[in-house]
Amino acid sequence: MSHSAYRLAAASLALCIFLFDMLSPLEGAVAVLYVLVVLIAARTSWRKDVFAAAAGAIVLTLVAYAISHGFENYESPALRALVSIAAIGITTMLALQNQAATATLAAQARLLNLSHDMIYVRDTEGVIDFWNDAAEQVYGWSTTEAVGRVADELLRTKYPTERATVEAALLQNGRWEGVLEQETRSGVRLVLDSRWAVQQDRLAKPIGVLEIHTDITERQAAHAALVKSERRYRRMFDSSRIGVLKEDWSAVRRELESVQEKGIPVSDYLAGNPDFLDRARRLVRIVDVNPALLSMVFVEDPKHFLTTADDILSATDRAFAGALAAFARGDAFYEGETEMVGRDGEVIPVLFAITFPASADDGDNVLIYVVDITERRHAQDAIQQAHAELAHAARVATLGELTASIAHEVSQPLMAIVTNGEAGMRWLRRDPPNLEEVETALGRAVAEGRRASDIVKRIRAFLKKAPSHRGELVLSVLVEDATALVQRELARANVQLQVDIQAGIPNVRGDRIQLQQVLVNLMINAAHAMSAQTGPRLLFIGVVQNSSKSVEITVRDTGPGVSEEHLQRLFEPFFSTKRDGMGMGLAICRTTVQAHGGRLAIESQPGMGATFRVTLPVTDGSAAG
Ligand code: ADP
Repeated sequence: MSHSAYRLAAASLALCIFLFDMLSPLEGAVAVLYVLVVLIAARTSWRKDVFAAAAGAIVLTLVAYAISHGFENYESPALRALVSIAAIGITTMLALQNQAATATLAAQARLLNLSHDMIYVRDTEGVIDFWNDAAEQVYGWSTTEAVGRVADELLRTKYPTERATVEAALLQNGRWEGVLEQETRSGVRLVLDSRWAVQQDRLAKPIGVLEIHTDITERQAAHAALVKSERRYRRMFDSSRIGVLKEDWSAVRRELESVQEKGIPVSDYLAGNPDFLDRARRLVRIVDVNPALLSMVFVEDPKHFLTTADDILSATDRAFAGALAAFARGDAFYEGETEMVGRDGEVIPVLFAITFPASADDGDNVLIYVVDITERRHAQDAIQQAHAELAHAARVATLGELTASIAHEVSQPLMAIVTNGEAGMRWLRRDPPNLEEVETALGRAVAEGRRASDIVKRIRAFLKKAPSHRGELVLSVLVEDATALVQRELARANVQLQVDIQAGIPNVRGDRIQLQQVLVNLMINAAHAMSAQTGPRLLFIGVVQNSSKSVEITVRDTGPGVSEEHLQRLFEPFFSTKRDGMGMGLAICRTTVQAHGGRLAIESQPGMGATFRVTLPVTDGSAAG
């Protein structure tokens, strides 16, 4: 009913009572019924309505009395009228009090409706008798739909333990708290943080339970995700084959901050206070280590050994200072190489990477990844040793090469000296001695002796990498000199020599004796190769310009050639197919040609002779010789 309806009802009732009072023979006793008018007016919950009703009732009582009895008569009707007025007054007071109490209750109920939590009140049987706005919105049932229903059935409540245990705890303590699950009207299951309180009557008998429910579904899901991620992190931490340390650097951070507050740059402070470094090593607390790290340092139980960074860093460590400086600078990352110490003092070389936490509040979360490089160090040492041995072997080999080269190159001039000496002696023993021939023979012996000495000098200079005597060489002269040196030997071996030099060949730069030796070697080899054959023994020397930048000297014979398998190894030092061969000739030739910026190559088909090609760069702007 609306307020105006109550007002109308109150006014109508007041009029009826007034008429009845006037007309009935009861003389004022009816006026007591005005209390009903006051009570009806009080239903509007307006104080002024109560006052108006009360005032109206009193006025009407007095008017009825005045009309019926006049003011001279103070006997029993007057007394009745006064009693009625008193009754109206008392009723008004009670109605006002009741109205105030109802207003307070309504305000409290409005407060409950303001809450974001779902709040309902149920009786001891579980039947709902109050249901707030949040409950309407979240659960989906209106107050009228929910009130009168059994809460657990409506919401399909699932308790963490037996329902009876929860109820028993509630009755014993007067309250209960826990996490439970309920279902909304649309079937969504909610995880709720729930708090219950028992309402009691004056005799401490429970009459109802106030239940407050906070929806923590999302918080719970986020927490579950966090737990999962933590577990995954832990698994990675534990199963990683890389050693991982978790350290707390917050004490170091505090020290560094106090230094910075004094206005001292941290780098200066670190440089000026070496003892700080020692202290900082003890300030860095080891929070956690993974199994891989433990086995790296031969520790089974971390509690007995690993407390601060000082326990694990070797005394010779230099990397911690760098890490500290990086930390002070606010770097996110630092990596390097250092040495850790194992439980019994073993030194373990390691590579490490540190990740510093991004925020200062997260100071206990410094992660260090460590890789043991002991084996790599051993391998490095072994490689270094191998290098040293190789270098030594190379020196020994060079010495051998030097000796072999001298022996090889000098043997030919020595033979020539001996031959010429013997010839000279034969001419001397003639009767009469032919002194002219003796002189010629001795002259040749002296020249060969000089050449031998030159060869030795050049080889030594060459092997010492000393600068050689380079000059501009006219190729026709070079070939002529070389052939002159082997002329007698070729003649003795029955080899026919044919030389073909292209006209206008440019000059080359080089060491005359060295290049002469190359040609001498190639020609002697050819003569040796053809020594067993019965057919014509031809040796052909050709010189052509094969490009604008280079010339080519070809030494071709008609000997047996070189087999495929030997072709690969021909230029290797000490490779020889001859019984008394030293295998140094071609090796020296190739090195010499290469030292002149040229190439020495061979072409050969077995049975068809061998062709050696010496390619040399020409000197700029040289003219034909
Ligand atoms: P050596 O003459 O002491 O054996 P070389 O290095 O001068 O050493 O020659 C290596 C080998 O190359 C010889 O043993 C020979 O088998 C082969 N060889 C060199 N020149 C010729 C050639 N013109 N024809 C065939 N084989 C050759």
